[in-house]
Amino acid sequence: MLTKNIHFDSKCVHSGVGEYEHGPVVPPIYQTSTFKFVNTDQGARLFKGEEDGYIYTRMRNPTIEALENAVAELEEGHKALACSSGMAAINTIFTSLLEKGNHVVCSESLYGPTRLLLETIFNKFGIETSFVNTSNLTEIEDAVKSNTKLIYIETPGNPTLAITDIEQTAKIAHSSKSLLVVDNTFMSPALQQPIKFGADVVLHSMTKFLNGHADVIAGVIVVKNEELYSIIRKTLNQTGGVIDPFNSFLVHRGLKTLSLRMQRHSQNAQVVAEFLENHSKVKWVSYPGLKSHPQYDVAQKQHYGSGGMISFELKGGIEAGKTLMNNVKLCQLAVSLGGVESLIQHPASMTHFSLGKENREKAGITDGLVRLSVGIENVNDIINDLEQSLKKISF
Ligand SMILES: *Cc1c(COP(=O)(O)O)cnc(C)c1O
Repeated sequence: MLTKNIHFDSKCVHSGVGEYEHGPVVPPIYQTSTFKFVNTDQGARLFKGEEDGYIYTRMRNPTIEALENAVAELEEGHKALACSSGMAAINTIFTSLLEKGNHVVCSESLYGPTRLLLETIFNKFGIETSFVNTSNLTEIEDAVKSNTKLIYIETPGNPTLAITDIEQTAKIAHSSKSLLVVDNTFMSPALQQPIKFGADVVLHSMTKFLNGHADVIAGVIVVKNEELYSIIRKTLNQTGGVIDPFNSFLVHRGLKTLSLRMQRHSQNAQVVAEFLENHSKVKWVSYPGLKSHPQYDVAQKQHYGSGGMISFELKGGIEAGKTLMNNVKLCQLAVSLGGVESLIQHPASMTHFSLGKENREKAGITDGLVRLSVGIENVNDIINDLEQSLKKISF
């Protein structure tokens, strides 16, 4: 395909688009659950795998495949499998690769439901997880046991933006015969390509930056080789967490502007992070593009840009944070992230509430932490909005 030797920006526009009847420029939406066979012999050949073709949309669909091919190409992976949500992608990975008696080493600063899935569901099936600070490689090494099967990292981690060195973690995983899984939702392949640094499996909540328009729930799994693809594909087909054709079409449409959007998210967030860091009412700011970030050097090595996510705390703690969040006008008070609009939220009472105070404190998720997903609006409008709201805080 022509997309092999072109720049990432161009790949976003062209990847995954195949040839279709009548020559459409965009993959058509094959909104069908099933596909007709020519005759019984052909149906049988398709089921045996002797002939290439479509049978049933839970198994294969051209609109879904177009999106999967695009994401695999952008992540520089072998192949991809699109799922009905980011959580469906994570669940499919665990269900595919873990069995009773296995152990997982997992980042402690991560998407809340991922932790709950391991702690409250997979532990029922005899799978044990150690949650550690994966920014510290020694903590990962110390947590690995003879039955460790997966090292699962989220980097930058939600919501603290703690960064894990992917290359070094892959070395630890492979020397202990385990696999490295990376949740790349916060960066997207425009800013970080974990497979290049040795990751075996990469996943995204495509709900966020990949789709980019806050109107779809979807996920994706990207694998580095055919062996992993066939195991995970079989599980996804049997457990059913597949995406549908219309959502695939929407995400594929969003991908075309991924590179442009990520550049703007990163530019805006850098300016907003510096504005906050220099503001008298702000206690601390965590952003991978700030020299004050504890893993700034690792960020420089594995990122192509610093992304759109910022976390910070005000000097007045949670009460001041609430005043800020209740008075913004352009920024929307809502969970989720990665859309074109700026979103602000409070992890301790919202996205990370269900983790409990003890787990939050250990992971560095303070009660006063505010998470901001910087959108692609004009940066002066975002700053003016934050400034007028910060003025409402009196202390
Ligand atoms: C949102 C999110 C998920 C879960 O994705 P859904 O599409 O909501 O199921 C997983 N990981 C990260 C980092 C996320 O931000």
